[in-house]
Amino acid sequence: MFEEDCLFCKIVRGEIPAKKVFETKDVIAFNDIYPQAVEHYLFIHREHTKNANSMVAQKPEHLTAIFKAIREFTQQTYLETSGFRVVTNIGANAGQTVFHTHFHVLGGEKLGTFGSNSTKSSIH
Ligand code: 5GP
Ligand code: ZN
Repeated sequence: MFEEDCLFCKIVRGEIPAKKVFETKDVIAFNDIYPQAVEHYLFIHREHTKNANSMVAQKPEHLTAIFKAIREFTQQTYLETSGFRVVTNIGANAGQTVFHTHFHVLGGEKLGTFGSNSTKSSIH
């Protein structure tokens, strides 16, 4: 399944160009257009889901496919040795802007800390 107006579905269909760095039959990885680290890639499943929670609920096997692709890619490059970060944003507070599940892979340098300035939780 794909969504007509989804930006990353358009990248999957080749309607919008992207600099691909890795692909399998299920997964593609490409450069983030606004890199936030020396290496910044987006890993997506070719099939549309809107975020990681939806993916886990609807297509949990996609999660495995993506993390296998991340493993293979980082082993083929220097990233596994040097270390890297995987991030996925879900919803407004995390600043998700593209609603096709994607995993940011960041590395190539010592990364900064992440999260908020406040540590006050309302959940526990
Ligand atoms: P989010 O904020 O939803 O977690 O991440 C969306 C990411 O997609 C952002 O890091 C943004 O830079 C990237 N992005 C937005 N539009 C495009 C595009 O047209 N091409 C590529 N390669 N990346 C994009
Ligand atoms: Zn999509």
